[in-house]
Amino acid sequence: MAGIKWVLASDIDGTLVGHGGEALLADYLRQHPEIGVIYLTGRTRANAEPIIRHYGFPDPLALATDIGADVYWGPDLHVDENWAFQQRRDWSPRRVVRALEGLDGVMFGARSSHWRIVFQIRDLEALALAKAQLIRAGVACRTLWDGDERRLDIVPRGALKGRALKYILNRLNLKAQQCFVAGDAENDGDLLEGRYRGVLVANGTLSLRDHLPPVIWRSPYEGAYGVLDGLRQFIDDSLPLVPAEYAG
Ligand SMILES: [Mg+2]
Repeated sequence: MAGIKWVLASDIDGTLVGHGGEALLADYLRQHPEIGVIYLTGRTRANAEPIIRHYGFPDPLALATDIGADVYWGPDLHVDENWAFQQRRDWSPRRVVRALEGLDGVMFGARSSHWRIVFQIRDLEALALAKAQLIRAGVACRTLWDGDERRLDIVPRGALKGRALKYILNRLNLKAQQCFVAGDAENDGDLLEGRYRGVLVANGTLSLRDHLPPVIWRSPYEGAYGVLDGLRQFIDDSLPLVPAEYAG
């Protein structure tokens, strides 16, 4: 932690990896140890760690998995039990499954982790039915719809990347102004809502692009190139012209 001046808080898939430039960004980050990295991903820890290592990205200050349902602290990645306990309080996978059991057009897919239940949904009508049924049954949860795959993911109510990031920064005693966020998709929406400066990479979801606050740079570059593009601007702009000890 010592010597960390800035933080890059980034999504992994589609943002850090998948569109080229990964090695370039990894090099940049290795050359700038004053930039700590927080990874916020929909992946589980077991799926996230090998990717981070494969591309040579720095060890995490923290890693938030399952869209923020779990928080792990670097470098050894021990789980934050306190955070997990908060999530667990009103999370009941059994109630989710029971509420949606036997609904027409709603097929149980898998428990992809402790925090995520996946359903295959036939059409938008079945989607509306499923959502209404969850509300009727009073199940505390958050739903994430992927229209291309007709897939409905159900996660704990508090599983939000932005919420996890706020918690992590607080615990690390870092200010919002020190943090730069990066993302590409719907589940990064609450990272990119204006609390932090940041970047939406060029391959980012259209629906996000139309609603970005001015502090979020729309990079013309995809993936890691876009992150690097935005991050460099952030670091350069943030360097004080007059050292703090002389500033009024
Ligand atoms: Mg993504």
